[in-house]
Amino acid sequence: GRVLVTGASGFIAKHVVLQLLEKGYRVRGTVRSAQKGEKLRQTLASAGGDVSRLELVEADLTRDEGWDEAARDCDFVCHMASPLPIRQPSDKWALLPIAKGGTLRVVQAAAKAGARRLVLTSSVAAVVYGHGAGRVGPFAEDDWSNVNADDISPYAVSKTEAEAAAWDAADKAGLAMVAINPVIVAGPLLDDEPGASVKLVLMMMRGKIPVAPDVSFGVVDVRDVAAAHVAALTADGAPGRRFILSAGSMTLMEMGAAIADAVPDCGKKVPRFTMPNFAVRLAALFLRDLRSLVSDLGRRKEVDTAPARATLGFNPDNPEKA
Ligand code: NDP
Repeated sequence: GRVLVTGASGFIAKHVVLQLLEKGYRVRGTVRSAQKGEKLRQTLASAGGDVSRLELVEADLTRDEGWDEAARDCDFVCHMASPLPIRQPSDKWALLPIAKGGTLRVVQAAAKAGARRLVLTSSVAAVVYGHGAGRVGPFAEDDWSNVNADDISPYAVSKTEAEAAAWDAADKAGLAMVAINPVIVAGPLLDDEPGASVKLVLMMMRGKIPVAPDVSFGVVDVRDVAAAHVAALTADGAPGRRFILSAGSMTLMEMGAAIADAVPDCGKKVPRFTMPNFAVRLAALFLRDLRSLVSDLGRRKEVDTAPARATLGFNPDNPEKA
């Protein structure tokens, strides 16, 4: 079968394309420029991918052009493209036109093409935010982030609204859909272009985060996330469900220690001190990017990965490995 992968140049998408090619699928990927496409083809070829079964086309989430052609004759669609700004915009709804508008374009094109299944890369950002301080979970597939909460980030708003719109549109079009909701994705880069989540790790390695707020994040290996996407295309019992993926949670300090362990040269640069909570609260008054962390200080949120394990064969390594 043929699979459309949107945002094929992305950190996670490259691993998905590679695994799809390994499994013998034909892949059509969307990129934003021919130049990105050329680079992507080289990257996948050097990673051992059989790029003779890879076709790349141009499409942008903010425009209608290109999506119908991209989806034509595709049996499956993995919709992975979405804006991930490293600095959050000031307007909470700013990313919606790209994230939600683009998702609707892709769902419509998939339905028109008669695709058998759409796998949407959503996020735990669409699950765990805005439930009020004190709720630590375990969060499961029935939980949705509350976009009207004061402390939710524009990114989380965009993922929540895009996923909700996708379910609605797929349902109306009679298209079978699966959502994949990963925590922070880490692990090997296939080239020198880090995505937003990898930039966090790189900032720690370069000593840009000397003191860390006492917050924890779930972490999962990109190869396990990619395998779950591939499984979701065909797994029985997957349509209609949302699969949370996490290998476990780590504090920023623990992430730093894991990095120092794996890359000893970085040992002196990773965060070595926990920032007191009052200092984070104070800083958040001035730094917008910290605001959504405040209600999570000192807490570890738990998520339910049992459905992904049972239905998608998800079986992650420890978070430290990622
Ligand atoms: P990347 O930033 O590496 O990938 C994002 C992809 O989206 C890129 O291919 C990018 O294209 C594309 N894109 C962005 N804006 C547009 C647009 N206007 N039109 C077309 N394409 C666009 O991030 P990840 O690989 O980490 O993320 C992939 C998906 O996984 C996203 O949906 C993200 O929300 C989700 N996710 C990521 C997590 C993480 O920790 N990384 C955790 C949970 C979910 P270009 O290369 O041209 O910029």
